[in-house]
Amino acid sequence: MWDISKDFHLSYGHRVWSQKLDKDLCARNDFQCACRHLHGHEGKVTIHLASDELERGMVTDFKHLGFMKDFIDDNLDHKFIIDKNDPGFDSIVSFDYDFLKDGDYLSDVLVDGLIVGEVINLSRIEALSLADKEVLESFFIVDFLPTSENLAKYIYGVTSIKLDELVSGVDWQETAKSIARYRGIHK
Ligand code: ZN
Repeated sequence: MWDISKDFHLSYGHRVWSQKLDKDLCARNDFQCACRHLHGHEGKVTIHLASDELERGMVTDFKHLGFMKDFIDDNLDHKFIIDKNDPGFDSIVSFDYDFLKDGDYLSDVLVDGLIVGEVINLSRIEALSLADKEVLESFFIVDFLPTSENLAKYIYGVTSIKLDELVSGVDWQETAKSIARYRGIHK
């Protein structure tokens, strides 16, 4: 069995709105739920591809992960990843999610025709200042709590759209010391 991997770097923001720490497991008084705050990371995503046979001497060409570089650069890098179920959504984004949805102010982000996220369609919201538009275009809307664990599984899912036979795992590195790993159950 061979396993190849490729890293992708990104800066991103998120908020873990459901964070609730067990103070018996936390060091000193470090149980203040800081991940509920708006904050950001210099993250790294590592995608693992595995195979028990080679084709032309390779698991696959690393260039076949070029779509993931584009996906991360276009949608996640320097973006704030926000859960549409976040109870603070409307105060963070300045618009209620249902208002955006009902008003057709959202655009689906697609990979091979599958919806993998949403962004605000700025062309449909008129009378906004340039500053307001720049803020609104910073959000990448997902339907899950954006913890490292869920983000690793999310990237696994996006990768599997194109490389289902090869993807074996995804590491989401939030900091140099904190990494979440998702492994496909069939690998
Ligand atoms: Zn964080």
